[in-house]
Amino acid sequence: MNQGQKIRLRLLSNVVILFLLIAFSWWTVLLFTTNRDAFYAKRDLMKIGMVAQGLIGKGNEAAFWEMPAYQKLYREYRRQEWMIVSEATFFVISLVIGVYLINRSYNREVDAAGQSRNFLLSITHELKSPIASIRLVLETFMKRQLSPEMVEKLGKNALKETERLNDLVNDLLLSAKLDTAYRPHLQEMDISEFIADLVVTMQAKYPKGDFSFTSTLEDPIVRADEMGLSSMILNLLENGVKYSAGPPKIGVKLTAENSNVIISIADQGIGIEDKEKKRIFKKFYRVGSEDTRRTKGTGLGLFIVSELIRAHEGRIEVVDNKPQGTIFRITLPTNQYHD
Ligand code: ADP
Repeated sequence: MNQGQKIRLRLLSNVVILFLLIAFSWWTVLLFTTNRDAFYAKRDLMKIGMVAQGLIGKGNEAAFWEMPAYQKLYREYRRQEWMIVSEATFFVISLVIGVYLINRSYNREVDAAGQSRNFLLSITHELKSPIASIRLVLETFMKRQLSPEMVEKLGKNALKETERLNDLVNDLLLSAKLDTAYRPHLQEMDISEFIADLVVTMQAKYPKGDFSFTSTLEDPIVRADEMGLSSMILNLLENGVKYSAGPPKIGVKLTAENSNVIISIADQGIGIEDKEKKRIFKKFYRVGSEDTRRTKGTGLGLFIVSELIRAHEGRIEVVDNKPQGTIFRITLPTNQYHD
């Protein structure tokens, strides 16, 4: 469905809903007045009858209001009035709830369709471009006699591309596993040393970047899943690099709060708008559209991070960094990781 069709469908459904509400209000008012008119007619008839029978004097309104027959009629009239009001309220509430639920699932469908389109576009690109460049390198090797330096340079590029492919396949497999059967394999480790090593690796990979690590943990020995932990931290560090306009400046802090370990990863990159902060953890979700975005990716990274953290019974929050950028804050409960 294209954008124009979506807008037309939405407009049409809103018009139908508006028509239903107006029609219903009209019928409610009509029922109300008809009920009132019927009551007035019955009341007047009853009064004439009573005067004719000599039960009340002509013009003696007070005596008529006291009569049990009139009071019964009046109670019946009031009861019907209440019935009309409560049924109308019930109908309007059901209609509003129904419309809200339909709208919500419609929006979800549209989101899911957009995401799978985004995913298809990005995954196609992410799969095709490394394959194309590896192929080009191999073709060059076969066609031309190259200097050893050139062979080394092209070979390194091709290796990098195979790494990219490998990472992508690993991400896809891990996300499928996280959807179904993932259990963290806990083992004792020095979390301070472990994260410091990852930060050193990132600094070596991006020499122009500025990576720092501080830890105030008194007892850095915890039980955690090495693969899971390194996947969480590396994904967040790589994102910090990817979403920084210039050379990345990333600070990693390890602190303790009650019985939790807090890992915070702060970058000074492009930042994340408030309305996107919840969505970015969804599978295949990427901010913006695939046609206009310049960064590479699949929208799997933060999904993997949040699922891994969930499997560790921790949580992740995202807040703005000052003056710019983003801070991801992971809270991991340590009591269950200790022996
Ligand atoms: P990918 O990076 O492959 O797009 P992710 O799941 O890692 O997928 O991230 C989802 C989205 O969240 C990204 O498309 C990006 O817009 C946003 N994002 C993630 N990390 C950061 C960050 N550190 N700074 C700014 N935006 C970020």
